[in-house]
Amino acid sequence: MEADERSKLPAIGELMQSVQAQCMTDDFGRTATVAMLREVLDRARKTINGAGPIAQDELLAECARRLELAQMPALKRVFNLTGTVLHTNLGRALLSERAIAAANVAMRYPVNLEFDLATGRRGQREEHVERLICQMTGAEAATIVNNNAAAVLLALNTLALDGEVMVSRGELVEIGGAFRIPEVMSRAGCHLREVGTTNRTHLRDFMPAMSGDVAAIMKVHASNYEITGFTSAVPQKELSALAAKAGVPFIIDLGSGSLLDLGRFGLPAEPTPQQAIKDGATVVTFSGDKLMGGPQCGIVVGTREAVGRMRSNPMKRALRPDKIVLAALEATLLDHLNEERVAEVIPTLRCLTRDTGEIRSQADRLAPKIAQGLQGLARIEVVECFSQIGSGAQPVERLPSSGLALHPTDPCHSAQALARQFRQLPIPVIGRLHRDRFVMDLRCLDDERAFASQIGELSGGVSAA
Ligand SMILES: *Cc1c(COP(=O)(O)O)cnc(C)c1O
Repeated sequence: MEADERSKLPAIGELMQSVQAQCMTDDFGRTATVAMLREVLDRARKTINGAGPIAQDELLAECARRLELAQMPALKRVFNLTGTVLHTNLGRALLSERAIAAANVAMRYPVNLEFDLATGRRGQREEHVERLICQMTGAEAATIVNNNAAAVLLALNTLALDGEVMVSRGELVEIGGAFRIPEVMSRAGCHLREVGTTNRTHLRDFMPAMSGDVAAIMKVHASNYEITGFTSAVPQKELSALAAKAGVPFIIDLGSGSLLDLGRFGLPAEPTPQQAIKDGATVVTFSGDKLMGGPQCGIVVGTREAVGRMRSNPMKRALRPDKIVLAALEATLLDHLNEERVAEVIPTLRCLTRDTGEIRSQADRLAPKIAQGLQGLARIEVVECFSQIGSGAQPVERLPSSGLALHPTDPCHSAQALARQFRQLPIPVIGRLHRDRFVMDLRCLDDERAFASQIGELSGGVSAA
């Protein structure tokens, strides 16, 4: 490279004198601005091609663009039009307004997290939510950890350390990623004792519990699969009676665990923690951000003795949730107290119980707008489709819904390209690919206005795609 070409680049000091640099300094700080200008200059120095001096404005604009890009949060809002209501990859449950407000207060102000306002002395961090959970589930005691995986780990580590835990072979589940019952079991310091077969397990298979070398019996809710055909499982009531006779704890991992009878809303029934407690479980664990529709947490309910031991396990301290989660959880529980309104105020339940006719009209309203936005790249069709609850709740049940199917008409613009185009919108839209079509299930489209307002930008994405 010629020295005279390099000298065509302005000096940092010179650039910093500009109005644009002043603005960047205000927005991003002087240090970051200088560093980015240096980077932009370095790049220009390497790519300089003798085509004459590089305009100062061009360099400054490039610098501003890069600074803005670097400040864009990686975690963004998206539209979940996948048809899976509780989508783990998209953050599962959305919080109710009451939960959001409560979390806001906990973030913004000091709170009486571990402070008893009546006595002025130190209080118990979970007291607020424990009372509510016990009232709703009939349990003697409750404790909260970061997620249900943590709840299972803590239950096993506390109640069955170094001992054998009996689980039916039909329940040795993997719940996505690294959560597999056999592995969690060994990490918790317990020995798995598989009993029965994949499809059939009987009460007699659990009889070794009576022999004295078994530390606990565990039941895992088969949340993300179903065993059909010639099957048999032992009812939790019978297992709890056996565990009681053997003098060992009976642990139930419910997974989703709705506090409500979902049948009331015409949804497939899910086992409830209240039933598990009634059937005699020592400890029941479930997620806060699945069907309960609250923040990510793991809820443990059970006997005072067992929960007390879990609370004093040093591992509990490492697994405990923060004040924001506890605030949002309490609000979510309070929302559940109004049985007539709960399905309206908890977004997860609102999506799950949404009227199909309403989803259909929304599809009819949006179809022509999207057709216009796509400018002939795809044929759009309003379709009947099926949503699923997700996060392991009722894997085989399907909820009738409506959506928009986009059939590519341009051979150079596949369904994958359409999906990418929607992902590139300011608020990315996530749908699903189905038989060479890009399908958007509208069940979870709450904010139709925000969705519609960015349709105009679809054509902008065409050239980019
Ligand atoms: C979802 C699930 C878990 C894990 O719960 P997280 O809250 O995601 O940690 C564990 N067990 C069962 C049966 C589940 O369905």
